[in-house]
Amino acid sequence: MVTITYFEGYVKLNRMKDFTIYLKKGGKCFVIMKEKLNFQYKKRNNAWNHFITITHHKLVVMQGCFRVGLYKQGLLHDLSKYTWEEFKTGINYYQGTRSPNAAEKEEKGYSSAWLHHKGRNKHHFEYWTDVSTKEQNWKIVGVKMPINYLAEMVMDRIAASKIYQGKNYTDASPYEYFARNKDYLVMHPETKAMLDKILTMLKNEGERKTFAYIRKLLKKGTY
Ligand SMILES: [Zn+2]
Repeated sequence: MVTITYFEGYVKLNRMKDFTIYLKKGGKCFVIMKEKLNFQYKKRNNAWNHFITITHHKLVVMQGCFRVGLYKQGLLHDLSKYTWEEFKTGINYYQGTRSPNAAEKEEKGYSSAWLHHKGRNKHHFEYWTDVSTKEQNWKIVGVKMPINYLAEMVMDRIAASKIYQGKNYTDASPYEYFARNKDYLVMHPETKAMLDKILTMLKNEGERKTFAYIRKLLKKGTY
């Protein structure tokens, strides 16, 4: 049976089990194997799902930032994820349950999206690292993060835990994630201590009290 439907500017002539015949408007007939088609559909789904994931995350971070008065950062948070350099990793490595960057890293040994991201987004402690020349053998050390970016990092961690954990999320989740590898993070000691303090407060006393404390720190301008 021959069915004729429009498909992205092409006339789809016949859909068989393993391939589909397309007739381009004005002539030329070509065949796309099912496998290639599935691949195209998968990429399109990945792009859409990734877009939804990063936008959902961005909105949750924005809510948190607004609650402590960080309006500009709330609006601009993670905008570089919409650049082609970062977005394409989402298309190629979309996972659903974890970051596509992790999958890209497993395959290539590094994540090009992450390298692009951390170099531009000051709410990541990895942005605040530098090579120390004090020691004889130079090594990478943490630089103290300004309080406004530390606060945005807290909101980022809360949002990521909320989204990945879903109904299993509790106020302890961000602390548990941090505690798992805090000893190995290259983070300035004062920044690490303050992040530890804030996430511990969240775990023990909840969002209201913790956000009030963050607002106080932001007013003071330092920690
Ligand atoms: Zn980010």
